[in-house]
Amino acid sequence: MNGRYSSVTGIFLATLLCLASFSSWAEPVAFQWTAVADPDLSLDAVQTLGPESWQAIPAGRALNRGFSNDTFWLKVTIPPNPANRVLEVGYPLLDEVSVFWEQNGRIIESHQTGDTFPFTSRPIVHRNFVFLVPSHSEPATAWLRIHTQGSVQVPVEVTPSASFLANEQLSYGWQTMFLGIIVALALYNLFLFLIVRHQTYLWYVLAVVCSGAVQLNFNGLLFQWLWPDLPEINRYFTVPIVSLALIAAVVFTMKFLAVKVHSRWGYRLLQVVLVLNAAGLVYGFTGSYQIGIIWISTLAAFVTPLAWLIGLDVWRKGQVFGGFYVLAWTPLLLGHTVLAVSKLGWIPRSGFTELAPQAGVALEVILLSFALAYRINRERWRRQQAQEHALDIQRQANLTLETRVRERTEALEQANERLRAISLTDGLTHVANRRRFDEKLDVEWNRALRHDQELSLIMLDIDHFKRVNDHFGHLVGDDCLVALAELLVNEVRRSGDLVARYGGEEFAVLLPATDLAGARQVAETLRQMVAQTPVDTGETRAPVCLTISLGVATLTPDQQGASQELIRRADEALYAAKAGGRNQVAVWHPKAVAPATGELSS
Ligand code: GH3
Ligand code: MG
Ligand code: MG
Repeated sequence: MNGRYSSVTGIFLATLLCLASFSSWAEPVAFQWTAVADPDLSLDAVQTLGPESWQAIPAGRALNRGFSNDTFWLKVTIPPNPANRVLEVGYPLLDEVSVFWEQNGRIIESHQTGDTFPFTSRPIVHRNFVFLVPSHSEPATAWLRIHTQGSVQVPVEVTPSASFLANEQLSYGWQTMFLGIIVALALYNLFLFLIVRHQTYLWYVLAVVCSGAVQLNFNGLLFQWLWPDLPEINRYFTVPIVSLALIAAVVFTMKFLAVKVHSRWGYRLLQVVLVLNAAGLVYGFTGSYQIGIIWISTLAAFVTPLAWLIGLDVWRKGQVFGGFYVLAWTPLLLGHTVLAVSKLGWIPRSGFTELAPQAGVALEVILLSFALAYRINRERWRRQQAQEHALDIQRQANLTLETRVRERTEALEQANERLRAISLTDGLTHVANRRRFDEKLDVEWNRALRHDQELSLIMLDIDHFKRVNDHFGHLVGDDCLVALAELLVNEVRRSGDLVARYGGEEFAVLLPATDLAGARQVAETLRQMVAQTPVDTGETRAPVCLTISLGVATLTPDQQGASQELIRRADEALYAAKAGGRNQVAVWHPKAVAPATGELSS
């Protein structure tokens, strides 16, 4: 268990044991009692009642008559004693307590008090009704008249004043310690609520404050401390505060145990209890005090074991905080049981029996505060887990998304690549098309410019191709184009070289970093290969013999020149080859530029 709580609980239990050991400070006193229906029956009339009207209560027992409209008369005979003594009626909620002191057959002193009278009516200012025994040398008789709408409980004790005072310090110390526990826990949990904004804390604080108020009210302290001159408040305080305490405890229980989730039957019963309590709360302000008290006493007797059982049910279903709840609720249940048993007279009244319910409340609020901290901590832990899980899922999703995006991008790039390849390839011959050729020429032109290298171009054209078409048809003509392209590609293999269909039956071969002699050689090889390789056009037809004419030009690019110049020159050379009789290679020569000389070597 958490250190803070174990030490608080420890100090608390030690104090309780100390008080319990002080259980029998009073002189047990036997008395006689009678109940009369007439509230106005005079003392004289009571004194003349025959012995058959009186019943005896043995020493150490209290008169306990439940709820009754009768007026009760008690006759307490007090023998002489060397010490000064007080007579105490130890139940502060009695409406009217009057005492008439008789000595030697004479009434020598009387007091009329009760919780319907202002505090000043008490001869000794005390939360209980305490009267000084008038003499210690002579026997005295106290005639007590009790009338109350609440529970008729009349514990009577005669105690030497010194013992009474000594006990009073312990008892009052205990009451203030109880108040301290209540105030500290209420404030502490209120602050926790303000920080964590968890409603369960607020209900806990309300339950603690109300339970504390109920206990202090039952001990007569709220009257003494807060409204000693306004006894009317007592009549409107007890029923509502007990109702409110029960409501707060029930709502807290519902929230803390998540009763709705973990115990359906418990939830339904608690809902009913809530409604009945709410009715009690309203009735407390408007209805009869006696019925109100009976109403909420019955509810209280029902709620404590019910809450305990629901806690047990939730615990049984595997919720650890159910165990904490049962642990916290047990002292309260025991306290109430001890009180009930002592009220029934089965065990003698003592400091322990009187303190038990209050101690139960104190232990309960301490343990519940711990349980609450445990539960909230656990919820926070669960939330963290859930957050981490969600983060994990998100991370996973991001990874998947990234992979998908990458895959798609790659696919798109490949498709683009294919499209680009298609857009740069000639559909019939599958060699580079004119556009590709133009691009490549630009690139190679610039490269040659940078590296001061030569760039050669061969332009070639099939001789008399029109005839082939005319003779064999266009399809055969196409086959011829395909065959020629294949042949060119197979022959021109140096990396960087490019074979392109320049248009119709005209092809271009770009030869980077190749001088004129090299280009001319390539051209010649091509010419020969074509001339020697007839194109197969199907089984039924004879192969087609083709020849080509080629124009070669070589340039070392400079800043002023343009790539088109190379084309122009190669074209010019091709023209010369055609003019020269076809099936030949013509090389552009600078002199050829001048039309006068017009020399083209072939
Ligand atoms: P030469 O070049 O020797 O002067 O004579 P030629 O008959 O080849 O003349 P020209 O270059 O003027 O004619 C080219 C012919 O090539 C015209 C056209 O019928 C044919 N041709 C152009 N492109 C294609 C093509 O894609 N397929 C086929 N079957 N024929 C084409
Ligand atoms: Mg031609
Ligand atoms: Mg042509």
